[in-house]
Amino acid sequence: PSNAYEKIRRKVDNGVTEIWYYMRSQLNQLKKSSGDQKTQVKIDQILENGGEQQRSIMTDIYNLSRADGFSSWRQKEAKELTKLVQQRLRYLQNPKDCSKAKKIVCNLNKGCGYGCQVHHVAYCMIVAYATERTLILDSKGWRYAREGWEKFFLPLSETCLDRKGESSGRWGAPSNIEHLQVVELPIVDGLHPRPEFLPLAIPEDISQRLMRIHGHPIVWWMGQIMTYIQRPQPALQEDIDKMSQALGFTNPIVGLHVRRTDKVGTEAAFHGIEEYMFHAEEFYQRLERRQEVPVRKIYLATDDASLLKEAERKYPKYTFVSDNAISKSAGLSSRYSEDSLRGVIVDIYFLSRSDFLVCTFSSQVCRVAYEMMQDLHPDAAANFRSLDDIYYYGGQNAHEQTVLYEHKPQGSDEIEMRPGDSIGVAGNHWDGYSKGSNLRSTPRRAGLYPSYKVEDKTNIAKMPTYPEAEN
Ligand code: GDP
Repeated sequence: PSNAYEKIRRKVDNGVTEIWYYMRSQLNQLKKSSGDQKTQVKIDQILENGGEQQRSIMTDIYNLSRADGFSSWRQKEAKELTKLVQQRLRYLQNPKDCSKAKKIVCNLNKGCGYGCQVHHVAYCMIVAYATERTLILDSKGWRYAREGWEKFFLPLSETCLDRKGESSGRWGAPSNIEHLQVVELPIVDGLHPRPEFLPLAIPEDISQRLMRIHGHPIVWWMGQIMTYIQRPQPALQEDIDKMSQALGFTNPIVGLHVRRTDKVGTEAAFHGIEEYMFHAEEFYQRLERRQEVPVRKIYLATDDASLLKEAERKYPKYTFVSDNAISKSAGLSSRYSEDSLRGVIVDIYFLSRSDFLVCTFSSQVCRVAYEMMQDLHPDAAANFRSLDDIYYYGGQNAHEQTVLYEHKPQGSDEIEMRPGDSIGVAGNHWDGYSKGSNLRSTPRRAGLYPSYKVEDKTNIAKMPTYPEAEN
């Protein structure tokens, strides 16, 4: 069977989202530039009615995605794919004879926050999977918890935690490392040569199934890796269950991640709570067309301790669920303590169990939550709104799009495109336009183009297929 139907359905969904980004942004600009009050009132009315109409179509598309048995097919298919991948990881990680197993050694000594560290482990896990080598995670003396990764998560293996081997060496060209029993991995930025199986690539043998079922296959794949490496220790699970009860974490709920402190002004811009809540509100307006929502809940995760009070004061109609203790301990002073580690693990967990995420994808914390979210739904690719970047993986191979429709620039800030061209995408401005450069043009110049005129290219890489794992 082909995957045309699902692909077209998602394209329509995305198209309706994009046309509304465009109209809303253009109308707001018009409103700003118009000095006439009557016109401004009229524009507000168009925005309101148009918004309602857009939500109505989005609801129809949602129903379409579930009609005629598609919902149960998707559930079943997602479950099977999950089982397949988790089985393979378990198989890889539990060799019968550890002393003979081929290994990849990964050090958890990267100097960065938790999201960044977990992405580092995920990258090591992907290299292990793609090279069919058991991953040995060396995390003793971890800056967050001296005991290492296993303080919070189950060991990556039940049979093989020993890095010893007859021969060992650093990562290099395939012909140079093939014969080595143990290969040591540098951080992703130092990996040479760079294999094509790195993110954003998905494994070839399941690629067709993934592309049929999921709107963003690489995020699903990362979610699988996350699920395996972050299997909680019983104590952590208990902790999370207790907190869930105590905080009153119930669905539906929108996860808000507001990244402030050291990030603002260095790696990301400041965004007021209003910007986040605008999208939470929109999510609830959409949801309320489908079901009754007795309380509008928000799970608020942030490193800004003062934000909860501000949010509660400004949005009295919402119920905010937040671990205040977490926010307090998230301050810079205790950034690398075990307490702050627990805090961010729990925050990411609850964000990932939300129905919709509003955050900045410039933060690894939110990208990890988005990845983990995929494990809970057959396709949660569209269950987010980032205020800045599109999804990316730090150290990823090139992210490209294919042009579907011709584009003639309407201003000097736009680029020209022809069907079939490849675009190196830099970002989506969430106003109908994206930014990127046409790889055909010389010199290469970045510019704007309508987001709906392109589609994402899915990177597919050959990886082992693990036939032995299925028994
Ligand atoms: P990034 O810097 O946001 O890309 O992500 P990192 O995970 O690399 O570093 C962020 C660090 O800030 C985390 O490790 C936490 O210590 C802290 N942090 C950021 N956001 C939150 C949050 O929502 N809750 C908690 N508890 N800590 C956070």
